[in-house]
Amino acid sequence: MQLLDYTFEEIEKIVLDLGEPRFRAKQLFEWLTKGAEFEEMKTLPKSFLDKLKEKGYTAQAIHIEDVLVSKLDGTKKYIYRLEDGNIIEGVLMKYKYGNTICVSTQVGCRMNCAFCASGLDGLIRNLTPGEILGQVVAVNKDNKEGKDRAITNIVLMGSGEPLDNYDNVTKFLDLVNSEKGLNISMRNISLSTCGVCDKIYKLADDGFTLTLTISLHAPDNETRETIMPITKKFKVEDIMKAVKYYFDKTGRRIVFEYSMINGKNDNVEEAQKLSRLLRGVPAHVNLIPLNYVKERGLHSASKDNIKTFMDVLNKNKISCTIRRTMGADIEGACGQLRRKYLKMGE
Ligand code: SAH
Repeated sequence: MQLLDYTFEEIEKIVLDLGEPRFRAKQLFEWLTKGAEFEEMKTLPKSFLDKLKEKGYTAQAIHIEDVLVSKLDGTKKYIYRLEDGNIIEGVLMKYKYGNTICVSTQVGCRMNCAFCASGLDGLIRNLTPGEILGQVVAVNKDNKEGKDRAITNIVLMGSGEPLDNYDNVTKFLDLVNSEKGLNISMRNISLSTCGVCDKIYKLADDGFTLTLTISLHAPDNETRETIMPITKKFKVEDIMKAVKYYFDKTGRRIVFEYSMINGKNDNVEEAQKLSRLLRGVPAHVNLIPLNYVKERGLHSASKDNIKTFMDVLNKNKISCTIRRTMGADIEGACGQLRRKYLKMGE
């Protein structure tokens, strides 16, 4: 049982049930948020910590196993080990305005997109709220350098499909957003989904006002079906209806990700179709050069094609940027680093 899984109120109940005074809950919650293990919780009596251990509680849900730092831009890639031995990965990107952490929400993924390394072994398991929060807490601790908080922004864009693990992901959002915890504002959190539409409606109805990012990658069902199996269940039209609902409820502009794949989705005709699809939608498009994944064998569109694609969108007044690649020297796409790490042990 990982204490990082619990809200402040739940921690309070655990503390009171152990016969401890209520103020210990605040102390314990603060230590957990700082990334402390039991041994580091200096203000808490040993007798209390022993009781927690006896009950089978652990403090931190994940452990940093390895860190790679990019010489090009300071991007850090993290390899974490979970209590059950599973390995997940994450990234910390440093920008002028702050630091953004990219977190994983599942070990593996069920979605099996044709270009992505995360789905190669299918879904292994969902991460718990504490395991998702644990990534933020651990990286925050590792990068504080005297500051109160190192992490300013969170993107749920690591391994896994966040809306396929809805309950744990939304509990994580509540935990990380909590005033008693890291208190990271919804405005500074992005959730990226391949388009699990029923859960987009639920997210809006449950009052989450984060930046919704849609991995679209193709403007029509025909092309999209060949690269994203989820299209069989939810069509492009379903996605557009769901994001309109999300916008109406939250007022948040929708971000569309479009990974550019050579010969698949990178021609002028697709750019025209995308422009028509997004006409009148409060949207921003990120064009992303595809990261090469050996097992998938797909290649990125050329620089010229990406530029031409962007020109078409611009001409049609669609807000659009080409995403610069970060940490290119320390291993690329989603799930790739984890696979490389696992192979090293074989
Ligand atoms: N499952 C979620 C979030 C994880 S992936 C989703 O689908 O959005 C984060 C983003 O990286 C997605 O847009 C995904 O499509 C993209 N991606 C995955 N593999 C990639 C690759 N090899 N090159 C470029 N983008 C990739």
